[in-house]
Formats: sequence, C-alpha cells, structure tokens
Amino acid sequence: MKCSFCGEEIVKGTGKMVVRKDGKVFYFCSSKCEKNMLKLRRNPNKVKWVMKKKK
Ligand SMILES: [Zn+2]
Repeated sequence: MKCSFCGEEIVKGTGKMVVRKDGKVFYFCSSKCEKNMLKLRRNPNKVKWVMKKKK
C-alpha cells in the first residue's frame, strides 16, 4: 500500500494505519506524514518535500 500523504510505498509491517472517526482509512509511512495530514491538514500537493518524493 501507499502512504496516504506522500505516496511512498509502505512495506508491509511498517508504517501506520489510522482510521478516522468518519471511517476513512489512512496509511502513513512515518509520523511526519501522519502529523501533516491529520493535525496540520496540509494538502500533499502543496508540500514541497512531498512533491520531491513523488518525482
Ligand atoms: Zn509518507
């Protein structure tokens, strides 16, 4: 599966799965991605370090 924020491939057994109250499921490769998505509510398409990774 891929990280819901930066799009990086997550190896099974690593990363973190988060289920939001509304039932949406997110996968994160790191706590950095989790924080940006859930706490800071950043748009991954507007975050520089995410765009670099996606290239
Ligand atoms: Zn990520």
